[in-house]
Amino acid sequence: MNLHEYQSKFLFEEFGIPIPHGKVAETPQEARQIAKAMNGPVVVKAQVLTGGRGKAGGVRLAATPEEAEQHAKAILGMDIRGHTVQKILVDPAANIKQELYLGITNDRTARRPVIMCSAEGGMDIEEVNRTKPEAIVREHIDPLLGLCGFQINALAAGIELPYPLWRQFQRIAAGLYACYADSDATLAEINPLVVTEEGELLAVDGKMSIDDNALFRHRDLAEMRDVAVEPAEETQARKAGLSYVKLDGQIGCMVNGAGLAMATMDMTSLYGEADGIGPANFLDIGGGAEAETVAAALRIILADPHVKAILLNIFGGITRCDEVARGVIEAFSEVQTDIPKVVRLVGTNEEEGRQLLEGANIPHMITAMTLSEAAQKAVAAVKGA
Ligand code: GDP
Ligand code: MN
Repeated sequence: MNLHEYQSKFLFEEFGIPIPHGKVAETPQEARQIAKAMNGPVVVKAQVLTGGRGKAGGVRLAATPEEAEQHAKAILGMDIRGHTVQKILVDPAANIKQELYLGITNDRTARRPVIMCSAEGGMDIEEVNRTKPEAIVREHIDPLLGLCGFQINALAAGIELPYPLWRQFQRIAAGLYACYADSDATLAEINPLVVTEEGELLAVDGKMSIDDNALFRHRDLAEMRDVAVEPAEETQARKAGLSYVKLDGQIGCMVNGAGLAMATMDMTSLYGEADGIGPANFLDIGGGAEAETVAAALRIILADPHVKAILLNIFGGITRCDEVARGVIEAFSEVQTDIPKVVRLVGTNEEEGRQLLEGANIPHMITAMTLSEAAQKAVAAVKGA
């Protein structure tokens, strides 16, 4: 889960990282009032979950409250790489002397977090990594020891940070690692961390990604999720306890188990590729496959107007196929649709399961024995639609 800039910075502040004390607005009038109360130049910033807002015109300086209102009017509703701006952050403007980069992420190869720092801040760090990798200084962090003082000093020396700023830099780097570790983050980034004309360090931008699998123990962070900006289906799926990712094909896949779900997507792509047919989604209904879960999955799949066929692929292991079949029958009677449904049900008690399904007379149901047969039938059903 990615946090907005304002959420990331508010979190940074709890860990002692200095940030500009801005406020969030949803209307140009609000932006004007905030700017007026700040009594000085401000920066109006689009709050969208994507980078490069500056280049896209989503970050603008305003000298007066009137100007802030105009910028807010221009930015609100703007489309930045497919993200519509619904909120803006109005920050007191910083007098920037230099822009640095400071970020922490997991280095999977090294199996530990890595903190990265550069004097080439402000721009895309991946770009710096491509064109001038020597400008990025790195220190791997032993999770048992934490980020050590000597490592922070090595970073400061590596970017030739002026000595009077080291004290502040030490606090910020230590704060950022504490924030990263405490939040179960996969990314905590300050770009730019600026040196102001007044000789202070300030986190002008902030970006945090939290590991979804750790959100159960961070209720406060989980509440920060901005459901207004994510696809409605994904919100619904999460509430029903399903893992769902929307894709752009026509075959709505309903599968138990993530590995089988991926194999199912691969097979539909394989047989559909020549005709431009593929999976409409990734969906793992989990182990139980109770009627309620299947019905919720069905509603989510059917909400996508591109779906022309449903492929239900169930492998009964601990879950018995007859149980799954009952769930499926109940779900299909609750959520009715004329869309063809290809059902493959194998594993424990598959005979009983299949008999139940056949006896239920579900309209437009096609059965299949193997995954490749099921995928081919689903592709054919889309072609016939
Ligand atoms: P991003 O483009 O999405 O990464 O958004 P940032 O928050 O990093 O802003 C982009 C750029 O706008 C920064 O690199 C700065 O050069 C500039 N900027 C942001 N805030 C301020 C500010 O308070 N004062 C000044 N002078 N420039 C700013
Ligand atoms: Mn930035």
